[in-house]
Amino acid sequence: MSYCVELSAYEIIKKIKAQELKVVDYISYLFERIKRIEREIHAYITLTEDSALKKAQDIDKKIERGERTGRLCGVGIAIKDNICTKGIRTTCASRMLENFIPPYNATVVNLIEDEDGIIIGKTNMDEFAMGSSTEHSYFGPTHNPWDLERVPGGSSGGSAAAVISSMATLALGSDTGGSIRCPASFCSAVGLKPTYGLVSRFGLIAYANSLEQIGPITKDVRDCALLLSCIADHDPLDSTSVNKPKEDYTNYLVDDIKNIKLGIIKELFGEGTQDSVEKGVWDAIKKLEQLGADYQEISLKNLDYSLPSYYIIAMSEASSNLARYDGLRYGYRIPNKSYDWNAVYLKNRRFGFGFEVKRRIILGTFALSAGYYDEYYLKAQKIRTLIRRDFETAFKRFDVLIGPTMPVLPFRIGEKVNDPLEMYMCDIDGVPANLAGIPSISIPCSFSNGLPIGLQIMAPPFREDLLIRIGFSFQKNFPILKKLGGHE
Ligand code: GLN
Repeated sequence: MSYCVELSAYEIIKKIKAQELKVVDYISYLFERIKRIEREIHAYITLTEDSALKKAQDIDKKIERGERTGRLCGVGIAIKDNICTKGIRTTCASRMLENFIPPYNATVVNLIEDEDGIIIGKTNMDEFAMGSSTEHSYFGPTHNPWDLERVPGGSSGGSAAAVISSMATLALGSDTGGSIRCPASFCSAVGLKPTYGLVSRFGLIAYANSLEQIGPITKDVRDCALLLSCIADHDPLDSTSVNKPKEDYTNYLVDDIKNIKLGIIKELFGEGTQDSVEKGVWDAIKKLEQLGADYQEISLKNLDYSLPSYYIIAMSEASSNLARYDGLRYGYRIPNKSYDWNAVYLKNRRFGFGFEVKRRIILGTFALSAGYYDEYYLKAQKIRTLIRRDFETAFKRFDVLIGPTMPVLPFRIGEKVNDPLEMYMCDIDGVPANLAGIPSISIPCSFSNGLPIGLQIMAPPFREDLLIRIGFSFQKNFPILKKLGGHE
């Protein structure tokens, strides 16, 4: 029955509903598989086997009694460890929160449980979601299931690795500057960053809240549409959550992209883009053309400034958001006899945070300080507006905009981790969508030397329907991911 875990959520739900597969058996197999291969991949920080099996039994009983079940009907979901889960420790991959057990669920977690999704564990990530490789984790790096010596991308690397190695059927990630799409691309998963405000951020531990969204990481576009339909809902607990009627994104799983206008963003193929990535993405564009879409190249001039403005805004927000970790009420605390709160505070933060997090707090504090605010933070905000306008203008001519998700193939563990600028450069194609607040999807489009390449598609705000339609058509007509490699 080990085939069960390789199936998509759609296929598993079908079998469960037809009573061909018991939820308990399927969830047990997921954990068996985890026991077999997790040692090599390290996708998880915390596993929740007991509660998952209990929930599985409850759902099986519901099915036996003929009661209505939710849309996720027993599917095993991995949750990134910066999304709060009541009673389950939520660490942000940081020593600071190593023993933090949230007293409440993030709204997305409640929505998933309402639909009978089963949480099987919390996934590894870069500390506080700061990074692009999942190497900046207090708990050690995650390995790419396609090549264990390489990174899975980040910061939601554990979620993508878990889904692609079939240690989870669905996963949630968060994306501040590419963190859903980057690991999706590096692991050959589908990853969608929703429009800012579509999915509640209540219970997402903040890194840079004006940029980030929670979104699905899945094996295919169908599962992505299903999970998005479950989590995209208005939430009064998040003041940036948009009040619009709930949509069923599975309605857009339609194989028809005739006359869709694709704009190919020249700047996303700039310096530093590897030839194999460029080729893989252009081959995919030609395939979309075969399906009836039209394409044309377009230049978005201000994207040249997106990376520096992203990093200034993200670090500034981080310096403010992370000020709350003083170790007094919760979080890492070193026994200290001093009554000088400043000394206590300092020690807790010095040893509670990792190197990259501290670097960003310092840089962000600098960018916000008197005398530098105008020169850095304010300027970055102005560029952000120009970038948003570039996109608005481009969307008058094109339905969607396209580029690579990542400029490079998955790199080796240790290759970039000591060179922060090189690491930041990897985010060059991902950050524009966050600055503009628009939805963006990464779809596996090809392989080079056994390593995955992702195609990135961006749409106007709240046009996730287009991303799903195009992604679905692409996957239906050009399936590239037939069999998982290496980890059966
Ligand atoms: N790699 C980017 C950063 O380090 C994006 C991270 C994210 O999206 N959470 O900031």
